[in-house]
Amino acid sequence: MNDCLFCKIIAGDIPSKKVYEDDLCYAFYDIDPQAPTHFLVIPKEHIQSVSQVSAANQATVGHIFAVIAKLAGELGLESYRVVSNIGDQAGQSVHHLHFHVLSGRDFTWPPG
Ligand code: C5P
Repeated sequence: MNDCLFCKIIAGDIPSKKVYEDDLCYAFYDIDPQAPTHFLVIPKEHIQSVSQVSAANQATVGHIFAVIAKLAGELGLESYRVVSNIGDQAGQSVHHLHFHVLSGRDFTWPPG
């Protein structure tokens, strides 16, 4: 999508600090980290949020979770949190599906 920030990051039109990339997804460090380790994993295909996951794109989302596990292992993350905000009230500010991977500090529950 032309006006999507994360589509522009995937295209290289907006700079990012890349963690990983393959045919289906792109991972990069969050510009405003909320933990000592905080990166995002996003599909290259524009999907608005978890609310738009369906049979047509579920393989990509499953692949993203395999990538998260692989990257967490490679980065030595023993405990971490995976978060995806859906919609404005939940705090979604970029409307391109993304999974936050946060690690390196204690997390509280329930989340704020
Ligand atoms: O869940 P939410 O939609 O709020 O997450 C979007 C995330 O994208 C934020 O954590 C924000 O810091 C990050 N971001 C980024 N690089 C940008 C713009 C936003 O890492 N250029």
